[in-house]
Amino acid sequence: PVPRVAIVGRPNVGKSSLFNWIARRRLAIVDDFEGVTRDRMTTLIEANDRFFELIDTGGMGVEDADNLTADVRHQIEMALSVADVIILVVDAQQGVMPLDEEVSERLRSIQRPVILVANKADQSHQDVLAEDFQRLGRGRLVCVSTTQNRNRDELLELIVDRL
Ligand code: GDP
Ligand code: MG
Repeated sequence: PVPRVAIVGRPNVGKSSLFNWIARRRLAIVDDFEGVTRDRMTTLIEANDRFFELIDTGGMGVEDADNLTADVRHQIEMALSVADVIILVVDAQQGVMPLDEEVSERLRSIQRPVILVANKADQSHQDVLAEDFQRLGRGRLVCVSTTQNRNRDELLELIVDRL
């Protein structure tokens, strides 16, 4: 069976953008409004002669902020039920938010590799600020920008190493 890699994180950090960027196709819907991805998206990725199935667990259609916690819980349950490796996405420009801490906390009990991806590091000087995410204690941090095409190969290498 092909290993599965699930993308999790609070709304609007760029999970669907990351999914499309890794896939090099526009499959998941990217939107400025939170919670656009309603269904789980999956695609087969090949990197360094290895294959994995990438999963965008999505925002499940959140309509108001009160449902964020339930939404994130649902997303994580889905990831935990299917994933061999988890990509936790955070926003390098916003810094650590309470919901990032909650997502991270919910992943703590699982014995599966987590890759911490600080997206929206559009310029290299933003990588330094992103180091604050290390305190989430979720393992190796990689700074990327899907819009500026930064560190895609580095991320793929990290994923493949953990399959
Ligand atoms: P999701 O809710 O986590 O799936 O987030 P989306 O992929 O829908 O993206 C949310 C917003 O972040 C959209 O406006 C994207 O254009 C924007 N975005 C995604 N990646 C980047 C990035 O690398 N840099 C910047 N500046 N914006 C990004
Ligand atoms: Mg999305």
